[in-house]
Amino acid sequence: MLFLYTCKQAHQKLSENLDRELSLTERAQLKLHLSMCASCSNFKTQMQTIRMAMKQMAAGKSSDQDPQQ
Ligand SMILES: [Zn+2]
Repeated sequence: MLFLYTCKQAHQKLSENLDRELSLTERAQLKLHLSMCASCSNFKTQMQTIRMAMKQMAAGKSSDQDPQQ
């Protein structure tokens, strides 16, 4: 049975997701929480940005990013 994550749990899972693959149950619970919580949704976006930057660094890409913000 699914239970709702607290924001603290959701943040923790989003962080863990950077280090490991979450289980189906964890992802379902996280998705459920994110669908109802704007602040955690924003946090997830930030995490994805960080993750992408880390991947690019790992791939040895130069930092010729678009200067527009
Ligand atoms: Zn939340």
